Amino acid sequence: MEDNFIIELKNISKKFGDEVVLDDINLRIKDGEFITFLGPSGCGKTTTLRIIAGFLEADGGQVLFDGKDINSLPPHKRQVNTIFQRYQLFQHLNVYENIAFGLRNKKVNGKKLKEKEISKKVKEMLALVNLKGFERRDVTLLSGGQQQRVAIARALAVDPKILLLDEPLAALDLKLRKDMQVELKNIQKRLGITFIFVTHDQQEALSMSDTVVVMNEGKIQQIGKPIDIYNEPKNAFVADFIGESNILDGVMLDDYKAKFSGAVFQCLDKGFAVNEKVDIVIRPEDVDIVPIQEGSIKGTITSNTFKGIHFEMIVDIQNFKWMIQTTDYYPVGSEIGIEIEPDAIHVMKKSEYSGLYGDYSSFSDELEHLSDVEAEEE
Ligand code: ATP
Repeated sequence: MEDNFIIELKNISKKFGDEVVLDDINLRIKDGEFITFLGPSGCGKTTTLRIIAGFLEADGGQVLFDGKDINSLPPHKRQVNTIFQRYQLFQHLNVYENIAFGLRNKKVNGKKLKEKEISKKVKEMLALVNLKGFERRDVTLLSGGQQQRVAIARALAVDPKILLLDEPLAALDLKLRKDMQVELKNIQKRLGITFIFVTHDQQEALSMSDTVVVMNEGKIQQIGKPIDIYNEPKNAFVADFIGESNILDGVMLDDYKAKFSGAVFQCLDKGFAVNEKVDIVIRPEDVDIVPIQEGSIKGTITSNTFKGIHFEMIVDIQNFKWMIQTTDYYPVGSEIGIEIEPDAIHVMKKSEYSGLYGDYSSFSDELEHLSDVEAEEE
């Protein structure tokens, strides 16, 4: 059977001033697929998403939906809805009204929905995002994670065929982020609709997606299943970007002194501000396993796979799953100590997320979109 492509991008290009932001993007997205645009800041992920949503027009090329050109279709006529990193909930409306918002403008067979139907749908959506009983809550008093759940419920309530998710988990802390990754994946599986997800986080992309699209400087570098992108990177950029690395949140306490995973380590990096937040990159083969009492940090082995030359272990350390490669065998469940030599600690500046919404993805965009949503006649 032939694959059914819900979205096709053909030779899409986009410039802002003299800057080529998208350079001949070609992509086919299958119906029901969880596809992720992965790449560094500024590579064109959000721009691609906005062109699919209809918020932005490409300079050249075609966007097809179910095989039909939708270049001139306005956002509210596209069966697409978007979730942003900042939840952009309507602050003056409670949870129920936020989720009901799009439904109040939806028409089925030319008729508006009755309150009973709206209420049923809101309840169904709240159950889907694990917020049963939250109808009357004030959205400004919810936690970040709960607000994001309401945003997901609101976006899904109008039954879009495609959900666009622009770094939706970036504002959540690590533990919550991991939980939400699993939940979002489950929601997508349950609903069977297409999710197009944007992230700069390789682990997030690899663990959630059916297909990963690696982008850099406005070009697609590689399209493939997570396992293929990881094992067979097409070029140096992908190899480097997807390399086997533990990437941890850290702080530079001083020159040559980094703190991460609750411990302080000597490193070879300098020139950061005191207490500057950084990314710490550690290759799985550069971690030394020592007796538990001798380690700067300790963890528990949760999986161990023999890879031919070495063992590849997943070690839980403070809610972060480290990948560690070693030629010695340690059984699953063992508690181990960990040491890392200074030259194995790579300190990177945190990437900046300025301008994600800037002046080109405003609240009013979504408001306008939501208030205009109309269901296709059944
Ligand atoms: P990030 O993860 O930082 O959001 P991204 O991969 O999503 O990055 P885009 O937001 O698509 O990148 O931006 C790609 C480039 O286009 C950037 O250099 C950005 O500054 C520029 N850009 C995007 N929108 C506009 C705009 N409306 N006007 C001018 N430049 C823009």
